[in-house]
Formats: sequence, structure tokens, C-alpha cells
Amino acid sequence: MTEAQLLAVVRDACKWSGLLVYHTFDSRRSERGFPDTVVCGPRGVLYRELKSERGRLTADQQTWLDRLTQAGVDASVWRPDDWPSRVFAELHGIGGRRLLYDDRRAAS
Ligand SMILES: [Mg+2]
Repeated sequence: MTEAQLLAVVRDACKWSGLLVYHTFDSRRSERGFPDTVVCGPRGVLYRELKSERGRLTADQQTWLDRLTQAGVDASVWRPDDWPSRVFAELHGIGGRRLLYDDRRAAS
């Protein structure tokens, strides 16, 4: 699964669970390293940097994640391995509707 494919399923999952999702598609004129995805629910906010399984964080991305975490914010990385279990659990944790994963759809 590529980062773009992960983004697509994450956005769908946010929509299905009733959460707001923001993604920066092109950050070239913005401050470097800010997490590319923010999900907002009634019980919390997730700052996530989406990466492919082997994608590496830049130093600026790591700095943002560290600083947000230090500030008490839920900030980390989502990779294809986190789909769907961890992603679903974390979306539910901020007040999203509980989602069930259908293996039959993924296999087709
Ligand atoms: Mg990314």
C-alpha cells in the first residue's frame, strides 16, 4: 500500500466514522514538517504523518511530532501496517463511530 492509498482509505474511514479530516496535499510554501493529516472528533484531535511502510520521517517532521507530543497532543505516524486496526481504534478514541473491517472487500 502506498502513502496515497493509505490516505484514501483513511479519508474514507474518517468520513464513515463522522470525523473531520484535513490533509495537506502540497506543503511547498508552508512551514516544513507539519503533520500532513489532522483528524478532529468530538473527543479529541489526531495529528498524523502518513508514510509508506518504509517512508522515513524528515528531521522537521520528527521535530513537529516530538513538540506536539510534548505539548500533550496526540501526534504520531500512520503507516500501511496500521490499517485498519490501529487507525479504527484511534478514530473511535476521539469519538468516531466504531468501524468494522470487511476482509472480503479488501481481497477483491
Ligand atoms: Mg506524509
